[in-house]
Amino acid sequence: MNIEMQFCGLAINLTLILFFLRHSKVGLINERIFCAALISNTASIILDIVSVLSIYYTDYYSELARTTLCKLYLIMLVLNSYISYIYSLHDVRKLYTNFKLHAVIGFVAIISCIVISALPISFVSNEEYVYSRGPAVEATYVTAPLFILLTLLTTVLYGKYMNSHRKNAIRIWMILEIIAAVIQFMHPKILLVGFACSIGILILYAELENPEANQDRMTGVFSKKTLNAYLKQLYATHKKFSVIVICTGDDWHMDSETERAALIEMTEFLRAFPHAKLFRGTANDFFLIYPSNSNGTHEIESGFNLDIIRKRYEELWADDRAVKAFFLYAVDGWVVDNADELLTVYQYYREGTTDKRTTINLDKSTVSQIHDYHNMVKEIKQAITDDRIEVFYQPIYSVHESKFVSAEALARMRNAEGDMVMPGKFIPVAEENGLIEQIGERVFEKTCHILANSDILSCGIKYIEVNLSVAQCENKHLASNYHSIMSRHNLSPDSINLEITETSTLTQRHILLDNMHQLREIGCSFSLDDFGTGESNLNYIVDMPVDIVKFDRTMTQEYFRNDRAKVVMSATVRMIKELGLKIVAEGIETAEELESMKALGVDYIQGYYFSKPLPQSEFYNFIQSKN
Ligand code: C2E
Ligand code: CA
Ligand code: CA
Repeated sequence: MNIEMQFCGLAINLTLILFFLRHSKVGLINERIFCAALISNTASIILDIVSVLSIYYTDYYSELARTTLCKLYLIMLVLNSYISYIYSLHDVRKLYTNFKLHAVIGFVAIISCIVISALPISFVSNEEYVYSRGPAVEATYVTAPLFILLTLLTTVLYGKYMNSHRKNAIRIWMILEIIAAVIQFMHPKILLVGFACSIGILILYAELENPEANQDRMTGVFSKKTLNAYLKQLYATHKKFSVIVICTGDDWHMDSETERAALIEMTEFLRAFPHAKLFRGTANDFFLIYPSNSNGTHEIESGFNLDIIRKRYEELWADDRAVKAFFLYAVDGWVVDNADELLTVYQYYREGTTDKRTTINLDKSTVSQIHDYHNMVKEIKQAITDDRIEVFYQPIYSVHESKFVSAEALARMRNAEGDMVMPGKFIPVAEENGLIEQIGERVFEKTCHILANSDILSCGIKYIEVNLSVAQCENKHLASNYHSIMSRHNLSPDSINLEITETSTLTQRHILLDNMHQLREIGCSFSLDDFGTGESNLNYIVDMPVDIVKFDRTMTQEYFRNDRAKVVMSATVRMIKELGLKIVAEGIETAEELESMKALGVDYIQGYYFSKPLPQSEFYNFIQSKN
């Protein structure tokens, strides 16, 4: 009997089913369609075998049973090719989500099945082989290839949207079926179609539907690539979900053996949470995703799981293994609109922000802050490219000389519409992402330009103060870089004073000191900015080679309001003077304030009382008329 091929196909399919079931599946749509293809192909092979038996053993089967089995087999063939067509649509979102297309194709499939079941069928049987023939069989030879050709056509027309592995595997699968169908049509006793389909599915499995490929090799949880695909699907299908992300940074400071053990231990711990799908993120991070259950509630709403996880990380892995974790969670994953945005938010926190909280609730306001941040980064980059970073100058008055002897250069950004953006809006963002180095250098360059190309120096201005960010101070090339900019402008370095702020974020203090020494050697002077804000205090003055101390506005304002502050400040001024340093008081807005600063012994005054920061030409006019 001609059923050897079918048994081979069945053996392949059963093996595939066994492997497919063994691994946990994330629930991707392509995975489900593949599963449907595997089951329907297996069912058609079984029906093929049974129908051959029913034709062969005429005594054991009634005519009705034989006809029913054979027609069921034919219908299954149509269904197989219909499923292969649906599978080919998966990557082409505009087709896959096209309801009309599904309705038409589904309708054609149903009509084909009805026609096949209504048309007559006859059987050929002898000692060696059996087969069926007649209009029902011919109808199958028309409709099944129709779907096969549609599938092939999709891979040709929409191939650019398709996963290349999927595209190629589908093509091989379809071509095998066509060859088998042609052979079977010409030699009806060679029943090849089922076997060819099994081989096609086997190729598909090996190429990309092996659930193991969705898993991370080391931990066995779903991989980062799968996380991407799964998130995309959740958003595309408008599914509600909650998410917890456990971030542990890139460097665990432990040997690879211990790291591996800790990672496995964490995996086992996290895997035990019911209802959640566990994915590996970047490095040793984990994502727990809770698709909303049938009544629409979310698993982490109570915060219960998060507390358990946090406790475990803190107790077990933070103390003895120094794994510092922070946690992101969103009760509603739809706080962002798509997978990319969610991953961008995750990346934002991962890369280390100024946000030092260890548990971050991703709600609307947090996400909109991150949005603003990213938009500002984009805007700054564009402004740098378009040369829209401008420099304003705020005059600084010398109490002893009763005239303006210097100014502070302050960055301004003009947005694309031409409006002015104040430093408070863009400097913190630029500091966070490193663009501050470019801004600082641009401001420095422009300041050098105006000093070298105007007669501002002959109007009584001795030097201009330019701000240095922490990132610039920690750049080994700062001194040589600034030196060459000044040389390029033929500018004497003593017309530049650099303002530094020593903060807790400064980690490479020796580089800062190195830069300072090099620049001082060629003639630049230095100011210690923001004195009295808690960031800068007396400690710093002792061993910092600065010439000027700038009293922050908050400190001078405190002096006018608070008697105790008066005492502290008077003593501070004395000490600073004994060290041979000069003092600038910032934020002086009234004549009274000016008088009391003079009485205190401050050397220079900067503030709105004299002038706000001015654009280059206005500053120039101001100095010419006042000095
Ligand atoms: P800062 O270095 O302490 O600059 C002094 C700030 O105080 C300036 O604000 C100035 O306009 C303001 N100010 C001066 N006098 C008065 C006053 O009498 N009353 C009040 N209410 N404010 C006064 P601005 O220009 O908005 O700059 C803010 C901060 O942005 C600066 O603080 C500095 O930290 C940063 N920044 C500005 N330009 C640059 C730059 O080129 N590089 C770096 N790294 N930071 C910059
Ligand atoms: Ca400053
Ligand atoms: Ca300041």
